[in-house]
This record gives sequence, C-alpha cells and structure tokens, in this order.
Amino acid sequence: MDSSGRLILMAVHAHPDDETISMGGTLATYAATHSQTTDTYVVTSTRGELGEIVITERDTPEEHERLGETRMSEIAAAMAALGVTHFENLGFRDSGMVGDAGNEDPRSYHQHSTTDLDGTTERLVRIIRRVQPDVIATYDDFGGYGHPDHIAAARVARRAWEVAGDPTWRPGAGPAWSPKKLYEVRTPDSQRDKLITTRIDITKHLGAKRRAIQAHATQIKSDGPLLLLSEQDYLDLGPYEQYRLIDHRIPEVPSIPESDLFAGLR
Ligand SMILES: [Zn+2]
Repeated sequence: MDSSGRLILMAVHAHPDDETISMGGTLATYAATHSQTTDTYVVTSTRGELGEIVITERDTPEEHERLGETRMSEIAAAMAALGVTHFENLGFRDSGMVGDAGNEDPRSYHQHSTTDLDGTTERLVRIIRRVQPDVIATYDDFGGYGHPDHIAAARVARRAWEVAGDPTWRPGAGPAWSPKKLYEVRTPDSQRDKLITTRIDITKHLGAKRRAIQAHATQIKSDGPLLLLSEQDYLDLGPYEQYRLIDHRIPEVPSIPESDLFAGLR
C-alpha cells in the first residue's frame, strides 16, 4: 500500500512487450490514472536487446546494436498508453530464445538466475521492499511458453515472494515487506482452463491495450494476429485477462472465482 492508501499491483516480466500482451488491460485497470484506490508498478527484467525486429527496413545491424534503448522507449510509450506511471528494469541481459548463444552469456538473466538465484532475486526484493506491493503477478513455471527469461522471471518472482518479508534475508536490501497475493497470468486461449481463479474484465481498456501493443512497434507486427482483431472481435471473444492465484497470505480462504486481484484486501 502506498502513502495515500492505494493498494498496489506489481507485475514482474521478462522483456518489454510481455507486460502489455499478457496483462495490459489489468495494468491499466489498476493504474492510479484510472483508479482512486489502486496503483500499478511494472518491473521488466531485461531490455529485450536480443529480440527480433519485425519491421523489415529497420532490421539492420545498427538497429540491433541499439535495440535495448529502442525497447525501453517503446515500453515507456506503452506505459503512457495504459496510464501506468511506475515502471523499471532490473538491468539483466536478454538471454535470447532457447538454444541461442545468449543463453550461455554469464551476463544473461537466465545464467544469473541459474547460478545465483538469491543474488538475482535481491534486485527484485529491493524494489518490493521499497514499493510495498500488495499483489504480485508473473508467469507460470514454464514462463508461459518456455522462453529462458520468462522461466527466470517466474522463478525470481516466486523466490522474492518467499523471502521479501523475512527480515533476516538480506537486511541490506531494505525493511521486510510481505505481499499478500501471488498470481500467474494464464494465456487467453485457456478460457475453460480449470486453473483459472480470477478473470479481469478489461472491456474499458481494450483501446488502451491496443495502443500499447502498437507502441511496441519493432517487435509486434502491425499486420500480425494481435492487431488484426478489432476491438469488437476482442469483445466477442470475451474481454478478459485471466489469472491463477498460486499463493496468498490473507486470513480467509479467498472465494473463487474472483473478478479482482485485490479481492479480500479491500
Ligand atoms: Zn518475453
């Protein structure tokens, strides 16, 4: 909770664009720009500097050289579209897709989290202890689709969930703080997925989510599946982002299904 009593959602992601694609509507819903009672913090672990550039004319060595900076300005534009004013980057190096040479780079997020999980987690715990989020949302154990950085983000977020509230764990990283609920985002094609506990109706923010997707211009094709569907198509499909509550620290057993990540905390 922040000093004005707002409940805080912290989203923990791997690369710029993941936050918007997987939970952009949720981030907008809870950003202070759109809500008097909640706020949103976005943490991205890498700058996505090993990703592809989907605009043919810009797919050049020079553009790849500065891709990390480009992606940081794209996420800034995406956050502006969603109304999210707090976002930061943990500063790890992109690991690339499974099997890329980047996986082996000792600077990569994947290698850091594999060889020194707690050292990697400390960077996130510092932010958690400073911001004091009530809810954390990240990926499932498989990182949604198996990307090494997504798996790393999921592991680091879970480890931070365990240790941030322990005053004896790395006391130099700030005063202990225990978030109250931990979620993993579930992909939209699993609407009948038994694991889903929580559905957020993002009808009001479909337009903002589309603009945020467009802001990630070098990695999301303007004629690709995410942008080909109209707002009406999304409404027809069911305008929800879906989550699974994987752990919590609230006294009553949460009543499932939920329609609010802060259910039981308000
Ligand atoms: Zn990613």
